[in-house]
Parts: sequence; C-alpha cells; structure tokens
Amino acid sequence: MSVQPVIHWFRRDLRLSDNRALSAALSAGVPVIPLFVFDSRIYKSQRSGAPRLAFLLRALHALDDTLRQHNSRLLIRFGTPPEALRDLVSETNAQAVYCNDDYTPYAQERDRELKATLSVPLHLYDDLLLLAPGQVNKDDGDPFMVFTPFKKRWLSLPKMPFEPDLPPGRFHPLDGIDGKALPTLAELGFAETIAVPDASESQARRLLLGFTSNSIYRYNEGRNRLAADWQHDPVNGSSFLSPYLHLGILSIRHAYGLAQAAQDKAPDKESADAVEAWISELIWRDFYNHILFYFPHVLKHNFRREYNALQWRHAPAELQAWKAGMTGYPVVDAAMRQLNATGWMPNRARMIVASFLCKDLLIDWREGEQYFMQHLIDGDTAANNGGWQWTAGTGTDAQPYFRIFNPISQSMKFDPEGTYLRRWLPELRDIPNDYIHAPWEAPTPPAGYPAPLVEHNFARKRTMEAFGVIT
Ligand SMILES: Cc1cc2nc3c(=O)[nH]c(=O)nc-3n(C[C@H](O)[C@H](O)[C@H](O)COP(=O)(O)OP(=O)(O)OC[C@H]3O[C@@H](n4cnc5c(N)ncnc54)[C@H](O)[C@@H]3O)c2cc1C
Repeated sequence: MSVQPVIHWFRRDLRLSDNRALSAALSAGVPVIPLFVFDSRIYKSQRSGAPRLAFLLRALHALDDTLRQHNSRLLIRFGTPPEALRDLVSETNAQAVYCNDDYTPYAQERDRELKATLSVPLHLYDDLLLLAPGQVNKDDGDPFMVFTPFKKRWLSLPKMPFEPDLPPGRFHPLDGIDGKALPTLAELGFAETIAVPDASESQARRLLLGFTSNSIYRYNEGRNRLAADWQHDPVNGSSFLSPYLHLGILSIRHAYGLAQAAQDKAPDKESADAVEAWISELIWRDFYNHILFYFPHVLKHNFRREYNALQWRHAPAELQAWKAGMTGYPVVDAAMRQLNATGWMPNRARMIVASFLCKDLLIDWREGEQYFMQHLIDGDTAANNGGWQWTAGTGTDAQPYFRIFNPISQSMKFDPEGTYLRRWLPELRDIPNDYIHAPWEAPTPPAGYPAPLVEHNFARKRTMEAFGVIT
C-alpha cells in the first residue's frame, strides 16, 4: 500500500522555521504536501488591497523558492478552502491536514466548516500569537477587556520557546499533483501601486536581527520619529516588522526571544525601558487578537455599545480630502500621502490621521479603518480595528473621549525640522520652518496647497459635544 501523505496548509505562517503546525506535519514521518489556497472570499472582499496582496505574492514566491531547495514546491490552488482541501485529500489520499490557527471571526467560521466536512483529521496549532485566546483569562475564566491587567497576567505566564530547527521529515515532491502557477497581481484583479519590499523569511530575520541588536535600545524616541522609516532612516525608527508578523513570515517567538535577549544585554535603564516598551507592543498585538476573538461584534460595531448612538457626520468631500492627503494640515497630509505611495506609515502618524478623521472631521472610524485595510501593506484586522477604536474612543480603553490629537503640536513635536512634511508634500518644500507646521499662517501661503478643512479648536468643541451627549 502506498504511503499516505499529510497536507500542511500555509495560511498566515509563510515560513519554514519555528512553524508549529509544519513541524508537527514533518514529524508525522510521511511526505508533507505544502499547500496555499487563494480564497476569493478574502482577496475579493472590500477590505482587500493591492499593497497587501502584492506583498503576499512576493512572500509566496519566496516560500516557493525555499521549498524548491527542499525538493518540493508550493502547491497553489484556488477556490473556497473546504472545497480545495476536500479535493486535494481525495486526489492524494492524504491522511490528515495540518495548519496554524487564526482567530478572526472569518477564519474561525471557515475552519469550523472545514472540520465538519473534511473526511480526515484537521490538526490546528497555536502559532500566530505568543499566547492564544483561552490562555490569558481572568481568574473566573472571563476574557480581559482592559490592556493593563491583560498585560500583567500575560507577563506572568510561560510562553513557547523559539525552535529554529526543522524536525527531520520530508516534503512531497508533488510529482503527479496538479497545481496552478502563482498568479500575478493583475490576474487577481489589482493594479500595482507600491514598490513591494522583499517579503522573504531571510529578509524578515535580517530586519529583526538589525533591530534587536541596535535600534531597539532607542525605540522610545524612534517609534515617534515620523521621518524614520525602513527606506529613509531604518536604524532610528521602529522595527518595520508588522507586514512580516501579519503573514507569519517571521515567528513571533523569534521576535520575543531576541527582545528578551536584548533586555538581558541592555547597557542601562533607559535602554532596558525601551526594550520593555517594544515588548509591550507585542503584547498589544496579542491583546487585540483576543478582543476580536471574544468580542467579534467589534468588526462592525463599537466595542462600547453606548457609542452606537453617536452621530457621525456624513461628509464625503472631507473624507475624500483626508484620503488624498489634502486636508490642509501638513502632518495629516504627509502621512496619508506616505500611505498611498508606500502602503505604510509609522504608528504615531496612524494615531494622528485617525484622530483627525474621527475627532476633527467627526467621520465614522469605520471609513478610516476600511481605507487602511485597503492601503496598508500590514493591514491586520485585529490590530487595525483596535487602533481605530482606541483613537476614536469607542474601544476597550477606559479612555477619555476628549483625548484629541492636536495636529499642529504633534507635528512640531515629532517632526520638528519638517523633514517628513517636506518629503511627502512637495508644495511645502520651500516654506520656512516657522510656517511648515501651519502654512496658512505664512505671509504668503504656499501655492497649490489647500487651506485647512476645519479649524482645530472649533472641531474639538464639536466632538466634545457629540460625545458628551452620550456619556
Ligand atoms: C489607527 C491605527 C491602525 C493600525 N493598523 C494596524 C494594522 O493594520 N496592522 C498592524 O500590524 N498594526 C496596526 N497598527 C498598530 C501599529 O501602528 C503598527 O503595528 C506599527 O506601526 C507597525 O510598525 P512596526 O512593525 O515598525 O512596529 P513596532 O513599533 O516595531 O512594533 C513591533 C510589532 O508590534 C506590533 N504592534 C505594534 N504596535 C501595535 C499596536 N498598537 N497594536 C497591535 N500591535 C502592535 C506589530 O506587530 C509590530 O510589528 C495600527 C495602529 C493605529 C493607531
């Protein structure tokens, strides 16, 4: 009787090393079929976008290259995963399917459907997070709803170590198994919009090693430096690992392990605090995944339901100006143009533009959230939803709704020389520093740059009143 293979279905774990489900599949002692399924329900959805898909395609090419070094390749199929897997199981007489769990409502439903219809076992592993839903609950078993106690509990719990070595085992050569070629972005119905960064596992490791051996110690300032990004000043900013972590090109245990090692080697308290701040961000990543898992209503609604009564403004022209980077506030416009041109912006910029949309324009956070998903290279349902609801003041944080970012003082503080503003706003290149943050105050306002859409103090008052009615 011929050997029955197993299938490893790659989803958001596009790497070979420290991949829990893949390691288990390889340890099964039979050939492993490495599969990726293009699920049209994902890539054709309203929340899909060219930058993220282009990055995914690059990552899949890189994974395919690596698998070829192991005498195999990435098997590509199209269609709904339950159908694609049922077909592949029957074609190959596979004995089991292995994959890593994903905690979004869509992924959970998809896997439930699959489990119910598959004729062979579906083995799911926790791999995406440092601690999965169910592992960080209150004493009574309820999920945490506030970050600080979640973090305290999270820190007290043991985590899985990073395991770099592939276990013995072999990939299936895929002889006689039909697969499709990797599609182009155009074949998926999208046009190229950005220069796509290297999406390989080795590039992710290079970024991680560079960051954790150096920049991590300056993270407390670097994270807020608007002008620092991976293209312009990669060593003085944040890690730029989010696109790699989103697709699992990098193991989160590797990131955490190297951060812990950096903490042990920190030369002084300031550097150790900076490492701690970075680890906190990894905990936020876990936290928002837990929130989405336990409170899936956040996808479409406010986490705090009392805010469902909030009267957002319907202002399509203002929304369009925000998307295009034409609000008249340089820091907002620079960040939106960076997003449109590169698919990324620093966290500080995300908070500023999100606050501007929700608080200055009083436009529903769901508009901005969707735009981010369509344009971010690292668009991630859990982190994006959490970030938008945090900024809008409708989220988990017991946060005062009157936390409203001032776009002028934020700009002066985090881009004092106007380097970021001049990089993304050619209209302001020649304006003196005294006016770069508020160009409408210049004796001769710059030609071709719009006047502010709204006066910040007026907008602030309008928002306080709108939220005040509810609280
Ligand atoms: C409105 C808004 C929308 C956001 N949308 C996304 C998104 O779609 N995808 C995304 O990955 N992050 C999102 N974030 C969180 C954060 O801005 C990005 O993770 C970060 O800017 C990515 O850059 P980095 O990899 O250099 O991060 P670093 O500062 O180096 O942080 C390391 C890692 O921690 C995680 N992380 C950092 N900050 C957060 C956070 N606040 N919440 C959850 N995880 C975090 C990311 O995986 C990140 O790669 C959003 C934040 C806001 C305010």
